[in-house]
Amino acid sequence: MLCCFDRQAAQHAVPKAIAPSRMTSHIAPVMEVFASIQGEGAYVGEPQVFLRLYGCPLRCRWCDTPKSWLVAPEATARIDAKDGTRRAPAGASAFEAAIWVAQCERGAPRTVSVTGGEPLMWPDFLVALKSLLGRRRLHLETAGAHPQALARVVDVCDHVSLDLKPDFDMEEPVPLWPNDGTPRTREEWSAARRGCLALVADRDACAKLVVAGDRAPEDYAYLFDEVEHCAPRLPVYLTPASPVGGTPAPTRALVDEVAEMARDRDLLVRVVPQVHRLMRWP
Ligand code: SF4
Repeated sequence: MLCCFDRQAAQHAVPKAIAPSRMTSHIAPVMEVFASIQGEGAYVGEPQVFLRLYGCPLRCRWCDTPKSWLVAPEATARIDAKDGTRRAPAGASAFEAAIWVAQCERGAPRTVSVTGGEPLMWPDFLVALKSLLGRRRLHLETAGAHPQALARVVDVCDHVSLDLKPDFDMEEPVPLWPNDGTPRTREEWSAARRGCLALVADRDACAKLVVAGDRAPEDYAYLFDEVEHCAPRLPVYLTPASPVGGTPAPTRALVDEVAEMARDRDLLVRVVPQVHRLMRWP
């Protein structure tokens, strides 16, 4: 298995069988499929099935799923089906993934949250998956770095949960393949975020912002300015950072001040901790 922090190896980490040619196919690298409750955002508390895909060019300092960053050739998917957990080769068609989703349900069909990693690295897989999910809703969790990919999938998504990623909380990105469209500079990030916000404005969508403890409230102001400008009716969920990788949790005063900054812009803001973590669910 490739080391998650081996950046040079990451340039060659996506096997030919999966990407980049697979960006335009119905195949994506599945990391895990499991049933749980939604722990964040607008649908917090809803029993869902989570489909986590490998592959993320970003490096958020509080990332709690670094094993999702790379797509190693020998990667496998963990399928937590109701009749037992098993593994399968990670490279899966949308059809296989839809079957795995059904096998993880404990009863009636559930909403399917596709998360990562960064699911927008595999847009055609998402489009194909939606056509195979029957009456299940398809929710997308994305970092909001790839507006062109979002434009391709937004019409098949019943809900989009868009992270507002502060550039100061990210290390240098590691492209999954050359020219994978990942923004690098603050200007490129702003353009990408504005594009994504415009696409989800007035849809069933929300924005999420992780507030970490070692920041000043005004550090987050430019993100709220962008939401106010591009998607003023989009609900914004503030998530106090969980202490991961040395990232400190925020004080109540900091979260309060950040929430007030959003309210000053007439944004609909809610403070919600990661409920699945509180419950110690996956
Ligand atoms: S976008 Fe998600 S998976 Fe990628 S580094 Fe950030 S938190 Fe981790």
